[in-house]
Amino acid sequence: MSFELLILGCSSATPAHQRNPAAQVLTFCDKTYLIDCGEATQMQMQRYKVKAHRIDHIFISHLHGDHYLGLMGLLSSMHLQGRERELVIYCQKELKEILELQFQVSGTVLRFPLRYRFFTAPTEVLLEDEQVCIKSFDLNHRVPCKGFLFKEQPRPRNLLIEKVREAGVPFDFYPELKAGKDFINSQGEVTPNAALTIDPLPSKSYAYCSDTLYTESLIPIIQGVDLLYHEATFLHDMLDRAIETYHTTCLQAGQIASNAKVKKLVIGHFSARYKDLNPLLQEAKSAFEHVYLAEEGIVYNF
Ligand SMILES: [Zn+2]
Ligand SMILES: [Zn+2]
Repeated sequence: MSFELLILGCSSATPAHQRNPAAQVLTFCDKTYLIDCGEATQMQMQRYKVKAHRIDHIFISHLHGDHYLGLMGLLSSMHLQGRERELVIYCQKELKEILELQFQVSGTVLRFPLRYRFFTAPTEVLLEDEQVCIKSFDLNHRVPCKGFLFKEQPRPRNLLIEKVREAGVPFDFYPELKAGKDFINSQGEVTPNAALTIDPLPSKSYAYCSDTLYTESLIPIIQGVDLLYHEATFLHDMLDRAIETYHTTCLQAGQIASNAKVKKLVIGHFSARYKDLNPLLQEAKSAFEHVYLAEEGIVYNF
């Protein structure tokens, strides 16, 4: 199964230095999710060969323009290209009014079902199926803003097939063995699961921390994730500005990653004041070794 992050936009507030506003495509358990949809997202999707019809779920962290102004264009194109499958947008409730006014004044009746799933609680499960559980959680920004946590469901245990055969386990009991159950034969003899299976590889996880003030309460939520994307708008010498605008510095993003013991960190949402991003990378690296700059078109595997 593939787990990868493709950055489509890594700029904060405005496009700058060839960098576009926030958007990223997450492939998780082989499904494709769009997270934030800043201006130019659909152009970036074309550039990096992301097929819009593969996206059934769009997550919008908050209603600052750099995170959603590309949505109307993308939805219009989906409509014009004859999409029929349902699309779900996870968002603040005001987004529905914003979009529907635009559909109304342009006389657009979408050809596909568009469903909204509004955020209703500080932390909640937005979507869960056999493979994945996706949660949202509160960030600390000037307007209500959410982070997203993608977790693969626990993987099935691996069978020790020789032992399984020796114990005479019938084939139709294999799924229950993989789920961790002990085997009891017709004589009532119990073979513990641990004698028949071994642990699977750990499940994968990804956390997206959009615009936020440095917030240590995030640490337990994102603890140990395989990949963390965290905004890092400013260098730490701009801490006052970061606090004033409810953003995080590169040093703080590194500290969060370090304290949460994540495996890899990607920093993004860079201020237009920085043309050269290397100092931002070095600053984050001073607190956490495995850090990468968000670069458009780059795929980060995890
Ligand atoms: Zn932003
Ligand atoms: Zn914002």
